[in-house]
Amino acid sequence: MDALNPITIKPIRTLKDNYVWVIINNASHTAVIIDPGEADPVITFLNDNKLSLLAVLITHHHWDHTNGIPGIINHSDVPIYGPAAEKIPSVTNIVFENIQIDIPGFPTLQALDIPGHTIGHIAYYSPGILFCGDTLFAAGCGRIFEGTAAQMYSSLQKIAALPEDTKIYCAHEYTLNNLRFAATVEPSNKKINERIQSVTELRHKNLPSLPSTLREEKETNPFLRCHEPELRIHAEEHIGQTLTTPIAIFTALRQWKNNF
Ligand code: ZN
Ligand code: FE
Repeated sequence: MDALNPITIKPIRTLKDNYVWVIINNASHTAVIIDPGEADPVITFLNDNKLSLLAVLITHHHWDHTNGIPGIINHSDVPIYGPAAEKIPSVTNIVFENIQIDIPGFPTLQALDIPGHTIGHIAYYSPGILFCGDTLFAAGCGRIFEGTAAQMYSSLQKIAALPEDTKIYCAHEYTLNNLRFAATVEPSNKKINERIQSVTELRHKNLPSLPSTLREEKETNPFLRCHEPELRIHAEEHIGQTLTTPIAIFTALRQWKNNF
């Protein structure tokens, strides 16, 4: 245990490829979890590590981020924070843009509205760390299920404006597949190939490819690179029309990725 910095963040694997992130205060043996799609692996982790749960944070309403809530409440009756604009049973504390969440012993977290994947999707941010659910993925972004492409684009731009050393804790292990798409749409970007190699090594060892940093994402994530001429050229070739704005390029890339 590091007495000066008692906070660590660990992943719990759930379902097919979800991560439930756990923020741990090693001094007080307490924990906060994000997006429990299942209860049992979370409860096992808390018991194995002798941690008391203090709160649950939810980024959006999808079942693979929320189905574990009832089982977790059954285990420890803690506050459940969730987006104001989405109906999620059992949420006790609604959050929206700029709401600050103060949990004793934990960094203050700020809610950011990042609609697009779902209409009320939020992220939890503290300097250096971002829990962004299914909005920004490593080398990719979430599908646009409820919002518009313009909303998703501006949510990603909002994340891109955070400090570059911010660690990105997203909710799925999609990185390798996302990087294959990134290499297809921007083949001359050497950083993408380097990242494919490093992520392949991690995955061979069955280690998570996460968290990444916002810097890595800006270097390799096509959905944060819509201003790059090479991406525009490939998106235009794919769609067969001229694309004049970054949002139009983003929209074409997102549709291309949907069928990749
Ligand atoms: Zn989702
Ligand atoms: Fe998901």
